[in-house]
Amino acid sequence: MERKQIIIVGGGPAGMMAAEILSLTHNVSIFEKEKNLGQKFLLAGKGGFNLTNHLQGDNLYEKYSPEGFLNKALSEFDTRALRQWFSAIGVATYVGSSGRVFPEKGITPIDVLNAIKAKLLKQGVQIYTQHEFVGFDNNRCITFIKQGQEIKHKADYILFGLGGASWPVTGSNGAWRSKFEEMGITVNPFQSSNCGINIHWSESIRQYHVGKPIKNIRLFTTDFEIKGEAMICDYGIEGNAVYPLVPSIRNMLNANIPAFFYIDFKPSISIEQLLQKTVGKTIMTKDYGQVFNLGTLELAIIKAYTTKENHLSLRGFIHSIKNLAIPVVSLRPVEEAISSIGGIDTKEVNDDFSLKKYPWIYTVGEMLDWDAPTGGFLLQACFSMGNYAANSILKKT
Ligand SMILES: Cc1cc2nc3c(=O)[nH]c(=O)nc-3n(C[C@H](O)[C@H](O)[C@H](O)COP(=O)(O)OP(=O)(O)OC[C@H]3O[C@@H](n4cnc5c(N)ncnc54)[C@H](O)[C@@H]3O)c2cc1C
Repeated sequence: MERKQIIIVGGGPAGMMAAEILSLTHNVSIFEKEKNLGQKFLLAGKGGFNLTNHLQGDNLYEKYSPEGFLNKALSEFDTRALRQWFSAIGVATYVGSSGRVFPEKGITPIDVLNAIKAKLLKQGVQIYTQHEFVGFDNNRCITFIKQGQEIKHKADYILFGLGGASWPVTGSNGAWRSKFEEMGITVNPFQSSNCGINIHWSESIRQYHVGKPIKNIRLFTTDFEIKGEAMICDYGIEGNAVYPLVPSIRNMLNANIPAFFYIDFKPSISIEQLLQKTVGKTIMTKDYGQVFNLGTLELAIIKAYTTKENHLSLRGFIHSIKNLAIPVVSLRPVEEAISSIGGIDTKEVNDDFSLKKYPWIYTVGEMLDWDAPTGGFLLQACFSMGNYAANSILKKT
């Protein structure tokens, strides 16, 4: 087989996975804008570092939108396959109690990145850092800027994994958008995903309760619900139970309708059971905490978002415990979000993530317009897309 020249632009998880597969049979070069590969991957390591999740099949696919867009890539290289791939490069993983998959204790994020890089170098991948992609043409030519100098390269195939627009300090700043638009590719505006929510807290909540968690709650909108925990912060609310609400809230904000979510502070107790606790008792508002087992934070939030009339009536107060409506101001900016939606419109790509208009060009990872919650699903999709696109190139060569 003739060895082809393959250029990969962007050294994130999606690009690195594609390079690993293609370099077994072709000449592969990675061009990266920053001084090092995988800066957002390392940042992910500072948080939970969920490399993937234990879910499989339909339970995995249903985490992603648009529905079905990633199913082929995920089924060809699923969560088990990714764990095996990590194991083969010396990164053992384990499944945590929440189903998230982490590197074994003692393996640091830089160890994981170095293990991937070592595999790439061993397979002959050429790595060019501080090369910023600034344009491509319809003749398989691609242009970079390095230290003010313009450099052009030609390739048989080009695979872009330029990332979305969250945390631009890591290098993924979405500036590539205009270069694709110039070539007639639709790129949807970037918006925050997996981010905190801005709320106008009252002065007393801001003064006394910032930094406190509200545990064992159910958060819901008209089309989504989740149980878990949230953290009060000065701008509003964040946490594992908050991020999955974001798509539903984003839809309301984008439709210019008043955006709300609801808190159920007692998800395992019904309204009737709460009423039962009051039978035969004379209850004043000062007794609410003790009777319903609510802390000062919960009581403060309920009071701030309940009418005076409802706060004074037992039934009204119990309704608020189970259905407290919290008005949303906005989402946190994309620069602070864990991930972004927007990017290359999924209609622009074939099943294998090659561009319909330029089939020798592939686009993978977060630079395409899909969405998933946290919990390892983002990295899984990026690795799966890199794998799927690379195998498609192998089939063509
Ligand atoms: C704080 C944080 C925590 C996270 N935690 C997790 C987690 O625990 N689990 C999980 O699954 N996901 C997590 N994620 C998300 C995950 O890191 C991303 O989804 C993933 O890194 C995206 O991979 P990618 O390959 O598409 O792009 P990226 O990792 O963004 O890589 C794109 C690369 O392209 C380069 N690039 C961009 N423009 C150019 C250009 N013009 N020329 C050359 N190079 C360019 C960038 O410098 C970058 O290196 C987290 C994200 C953040 C911000």
